[in-house]
Amino acid sequence: VIRVLIFNEFLHENRMENVKEIYPDGMHAVLAEMLNGEEDISAECVTLFNAEGQQNDLDALITEEKLRETDVLLWWGHCAHQLVPDSVVNRVQRAVLGGMGAIFLHSAHHSKPFRALMGTTCNLSWREDGDLCRLWVVDPSHPVTRGLGKYFEIPHDEMYGEPFGIPEPDKLLLLTWFEGGEVFRSCCAWRRGAGKVIYFQPGHETYPVYYLPEVRTVIKNAVRWTAPEGYRDFVLDCPNVRKPGAE
Ligand code: ZN
Repeated sequence: VIRVLIFNEFLHENRMENVKEIYPDGMHAVLAEMLNGEEDISAECVTLFNAEGQQNDLDALITEEKLRETDVLLWWGHCAHQLVPDSVVNRVQRAVLGGMGAIFLHSAHHSKPFRALMGTTCNLSWREDGDLCRLWVVDPSHPVTRGLGKYFEIPHDEMYGEPFGIPEPDKLLLLTWFEGGEVFRSCCAWRRGAGKVIYFQPGHETYPVYYLPEVRTVIKNAVRWTAPEGYRDFVLDCPNVRKPGAE
């Protein structure tokens, strides 16, 4: 079973009625329900804020031990990136280098762990206009695009446009065209150390994007692809070692 940990800020769903209508228990709950519907996936959630609007202690929730028991971390954040402690960011970065998978959704392009893993600004241009989006499959042979056609559409989502300040992806998987004419590298894959990282753009909080079948297919595929193969804790220490077999 692939053990998934879903992180969500859980702020918009509490504070904005139009978002609460779409995700009454938070978008993490919708993502968890979807993933827990799969036989080979088991998902749990951690949120920066609780349902009463109080801030949780992430340092005590996303521990080294918790990450060791996590195969894939999903991350959704938007306006409270700065409230994520650097201790957690370092832990997440180290866990990915050691083999944990990580999937960053939508506005998590500016989350501290994503920026730490990319080493670049991860800036982009954006417009909150509810544009129609057409997501073109660039690599139909990749496991993350399995089950998709040539393209699929999202009726309304926030526009994210190029230039996107990321390092060149190892694989570009989806390229989105927006109604306004912009294009965006909307699904990208990287390896960082022994870990695999996916960025997937759809999912602005005011549109019911995480209910769409194709979006769900990509997220489920991404979980299965980023799940670690082989051993964890790959080159995390730099020991001075003896020759194999030597006393
Ligand atoms: Zn957004």
